[in-house]
Amino acid sequence: MAKHQHDKNADELWFYFKDVIEWVGRYFPVKRGKLMKGQPWGDLYNKYKDTPLDKDELEAEIQRLLENEEVENKKGIYLYVLTREEKHLNLRQFDGKIAQRKYEEQKGVCPECGKEFKIEEMEADHIIPWHKGGKTTYENCQMLCQRCNRTKSGK
Ligand SMILES: [Zn+2]
Repeated sequence: MAKHQHDKNADELWFYFKDVIEWVGRYFPVKRGKLMKGQPWGDLYNKYKDTPLDKDELEAEIQRLLENEEVENKKGIYLYVLTREEKHLNLRQFDGKIAQRKYEEQKGVCPECGKEFKIEEMEADHIIPWHKGGKTTYENCQMLCQRCNRTKSGK
């Protein structure tokens, strides 16, 4: 009896893995060994197995993200195209020098609320956000107070 029970569980586990592997193969047919290794495929399968996905659109987006220099964590691309959470991409941030120069240029005034702040109370923000093609350049940087920055990005 105990042995039978064990076999049954083993079968179920095997079928589950097969389902996961089939699902990954169906929606992510392009093999990228290094990038695909270690992804939480089981969790992603559980969460998205009933979501309609377009494998061609997914692949086109993955390629664009792989070529996008703003994306510093290429390993997070698979998670991002499913979850839409930008945190997985580790997007490029403005360095302290750019923030300091912008702060001085703005004379410490937040362009959203018009109030004056110390530099520690401000955050460097992409004027054109990343998902609309904005780059991490001086021209695309503004210093916002924390409150305005959080309101803007909906954090
Ligand atoms: Zn503000």
